[in-house]
Amino acid sequence: MSTPASTEPSFDLGQDHLDLRSWVHDFAAEVVRPAASEWDEREEFPWPVLEEAAKIGLYSLDFIASQAADETGLGFPITMEELFWGDAGIGLSIVGTSLAAAGVRANGTDEQVIEWVPQMYGSPGDLKLGAFCSSEPDAGSDVGAMRTRATYDEATDEWVLNGTKTWATNGGIADVHVVTAVVDPDLRTRGQASFVVPPGTAGLSQGQKFKKHGIRASHTAEVVLDQVRVPGRCLLGGKEKLDARLARAREAVRDGALGASPGTGVKANASMATFERTRPAVGAQAIGIARAAYEVALDYAKTREQFGKPIIENQAIAFMLADMAVSIEASRLLVWRAAWMARQGKRFDQAEGSMSKLFAGETAVKVTERAMQILGGNGFTREYPVERMARDAKIYTIFEGTSEIQRLVIARAVSGAPIR
Ligand SMILES: Cc1cc2nc3c(=O)[nH]c(=O)nc-3n(C[C@H](O)[C@H](O)[C@H](O)COP(=O)(O)OP(=O)(O)OC[C@H]3O[C@@H](n4cnc5c(N)ncnc54)[C@H](O)[C@@H]3O)c2cc1C
Repeated sequence: MSTPASTEPSFDLGQDHLDLRSWVHDFAAEVVRPAASEWDEREEFPWPVLEEAAKIGLYSLDFIASQAADETGLGFPITMEELFWGDAGIGLSIVGTSLAAAGVRANGTDEQVIEWVPQMYGSPGDLKLGAFCSSEPDAGSDVGAMRTRATYDEATDEWVLNGTKTWATNGGIADVHVVTAVVDPDLRTRGQASFVVPPGTAGLSQGQKFKKHGIRASHTAEVVLDQVRVPGRCLLGGKEKLDARLARAREAVRDGALGASPGTGVKANASMATFERTRPAVGAQAIGIARAAYEVALDYAKTREQFGKPIIENQAIAFMLADMAVSIEASRLLVWRAAWMARQGKRFDQAEGSMSKLFAGETAVKVTERAMQILGGNGFTREYPVERMARDAKIYTIFEGTSEIQRLVIARAVSGAPIR
């Protein structure tokens, strides 16, 4: 981006950010929103919309790289808010790959980023996808309960992966899967590592595809790993770094500085490093949904008449809209602050990333529910979009750490107490 590098947060968006916002908004308004209802009903991955996003460069490695280089950190939240204002299911189909790319960036070497991230995007006419696979049937919030095992075969310099991942966005239809696995079960979260599974690797298959409440255009499925052999270079960060990390953790266990099962899985580990980087952007997605529902409700309240006047002239309705507007603005401030802090490499002493995701996610749920209320019977039908938006919003209190887990992280950060 050509916006001058800024180390201070600013509420005054530069021209580059204003241009970015209107570019993504136009795509969301002209391509995403008109397709939203159809793909929600079909519950299928919206390939033609992804193709359009690739054609304009929105689904591309170059776009991700340019936003990652944005010194303010605001490029991603601005993009997410506008895109998800168009539709969340399609939005997640377009940005789902970036979670896998973030997993490689957070844990991989520069060479690994250069090798694998381009293979997650492909090009118009030859689209590729990435999937980030951490959750398991018995390891959702508690990532320390992970069972997928990675064992090293010294003779061939290969890692062998076995296990079942669940809830993976793009799981099984992706070209590149980023998989977290246990390399030393005694070390719980500290004994985990991340691996890239290259396109076409034998032994990786899609399990059950889930039928969901919301974001139904986004593909969510189990990923089964049965004797999946990947070359040594697929271990993100490399073996030397892993061996050093494991040695430090074993030493800490021996010295009693670290329990063999250190707390719940919400502590820092490979997955958590990824989530920390992505939480503000996920909060921005929730804001997009909330803003979309708020706008529909505001328009409706101004035009719908009962008792001889527009319903907005009732304080009961107007105050709901006022609260919705305040929550959306407050969410955006939290999200932008956290995104800026992440880009500046600031410490999240008060779990500001979790705060932003928690508040924005819960705002999306409340705002979309109130929008349905303001639309009355129409709000309850599929003739109006707020019903879909309310279904879509709910995921923002569940994935990328549930609201309870965000509160746990925040409570620990602000209190320093070992809260469980
Ligand atoms: C549509 C969708 C897409 C997803 N995409 C991905 C993906 O791409 N990659 C991936 O790896 N995962 C993905 N996930 C998984 C998601 O991150 C998990 O669903 C989430 O972390 C919660 O785990 P769980 O479903 O096992 O719930 P559980 O952990 O079983 O939680 C159940 C309930 O218990 C509460 N709870 C659990 N522990 C505590 C505690 N210590 N204190 C208080 N309350 C607690 C939770 O908050 C929740 O209310 C996705 C999920 C969905 C639904």
